[in-house]
Amino acid sequence: MKNKKEDVKEIVKVDEEIKKDQKKEEIEINNIEDEIQGIVDGCINCGLCKSLCPVFKIMEEEYYSPRGKAIMFSERFIDKIVFECNLCKACEQKCPLKIKVWEAVRNAREVLNLKGKELEANKEMMDNIRQTGNPFGKGDKKTDKLYCC
Ligand code: SF4
Ligand code: SF4
Repeated sequence: MKNKKEDVKEIVKVDEEIKKDQKKEEIEINNIEDEIQGIVDGCINCGLCKSLCPVFKIMEEEYYSPRGKAIMFSERFIDKIVFECNLCKACEQKCPLKIKVWEAVRNAREVLNLKGKELEANKEMMDNIRQTGNPFGKGDKKTDKLYCC
């Protein structure tokens, strides 16, 4: 049977492990946020990317356009705009500097995921894929591995 001293030692050890994991996650988040900034860094705000963006065509607000996203990312605002993009890459085709706004969006989703701020619908979809191999929960294949485009 463990004595009190051993119990305290174990608690301190677990606490240190948790702090180490949190630190690692913080570093990972910072690195990804830096990457996002790096991706949109060269944007000259010309707006050429807007003409092909299907999301902007429907929403018709700058906020949802690739240029709007690039501006928001450069200001480190990521929470509100990352799900209004279908990652089609059309913006990159039109951009004279070939800026990958879609990649910044994908990275920003990863940041939200690490911060535990992803959408409920997204969580449900991933659980469904893990359980059934199908985003709607209609398959019969279990998997531990999820792949992104
Ligand atoms: S990748 Fe996203 S931002 Fe770029 S054109 Fe497609 S929907 Fe718009
Ligand atoms: S992402 Fe490219 S096309 Fe869009 S505003 Fe910036 S520089 Fe112009």
